[in-house]
Amino acid sequence: METYYRDTWVEIQLDAIKHNIQSLNDYLPDKTGIYAVVKANGYGHGDIQVAKTALASGAQALAVSLLDEALKLRKAGISAPILVLGWVRPCDAPLAAAHNIMLTFFQEEWLQQVKQYKFKERLTLHMKWDTGMGRIGVRTIEEMDALLTELDDPRLHLQGVFTHFASADECNLAHYTKQVERFHVLLQAFCRRWKYPVELHTGNSAASMRFPEQMHHKVRFGIGMYGLPPSDVVKDLQLIQLQPAFSLHSKLIHVKKVEKGESISYGATYTTEENEWIGTVPLGYADGWMRKLQGIDVLINGKRMPIVGRICMDQLMVKLDQFYPIGTKVTFIGKQGDDIIKVEEIARYADTINYEITCMISYRVPRVYV
Ligand code: PLP
Repeated sequence: METYYRDTWVEIQLDAIKHNIQSLNDYLPDKTGIYAVVKANGYGHGDIQVAKTALASGAQALAVSLLDEALKLRKAGISAPILVLGWVRPCDAPLAAAHNIMLTFFQEEWLQQVKQYKFKERLTLHMKWDTGMGRIGVRTIEEMDALLTELDDPRLHLQGVFTHFASADECNLAHYTKQVERFHVLLQAFCRRWKYPVELHTGNSAASMRFPEQMHHKVRFGIGMYGLPPSDVVKDLQLIQLQPAFSLHSKLIHVKKVEKGESISYGATYTTEENEWIGTVPLGYADGWMRKLQGIDVLINGKRMPIVGRICMDQLMVKLDQFYPIGTKVTFIGKQGDDIIKVEEIARYADTINYEITCMISYRVPRVYV
């Protein structure tokens, strides 16, 4: 464990990760397993710790976005199957094979290039179908056929086929339904052509919670594993009781009485309305607490108090309701007393989604596992 010399930290409840994986496992049909999605440092929660907890709680495999992320997990001694969901340079495919890391493919020229490299170990592949996300994947039967023809190399093993839904979390399911239909059209053509068994996986958190019976062999469980709802629509359906794992805290490092009419922070955007107690907290936009969050509440002594003035790179100021001593705990996300600030509250204020909030808390903030 790295040593840090600052009193600002993210606290991760690994029991919540365990609970969320176990709840989804109980909820899915027996035939459907789980990829724990731990890309982007486990959505800001810490990839290695989340991966280990998820695997110990019932997930069979891991999914990441980059080869670098997969290699980091292997270096940490994780031997479970790992699928890279994004595009990897063909020249790096031998490295993936050497570490038994599964890659995603969807381009004929990619396969042709990979085959030109020397590698001894078998490269395990998942074919990506673009059924309506418009990001990566084959879109037609002809493209799919061309890829299957290129798999004529004993070093290449097609283990899976997958697609990704663009709007399984929304109220209107027309686009989701269109994607499911396109998946089945491609699947029929695939089955006529390919006689070996493959693993099928289509669902993210939203789809796996809403349509567990449609989820084939595995789901790719990301945001839900962290205890966060994929959207308000999915939250309101109350399908699984999720437990959030992430909270963010710091401590007051300076407290002073400021006279009425004085300004606070860059640009002097806040002026004290009376003689006010102002506290300084060592969290700033370089930690991921973006300037747009000026004005949002924090919890001190179980009560809400607002951030006043511009958020600086490393520090911010809070209007206190009374004097508090240096070292008093300040909670930005999570529970204090009877009140709670949820990730979704921060996301709404910053005009974004909960996914972005936990990802944006930077490497400077230590993750503490409890
Ligand atoms: N599958 C793919 C291809 C993804 O890109 C993602 C995340 O963006 C996921 C699965 C997990 O999605 P969620 O976090 O909504 O469960």
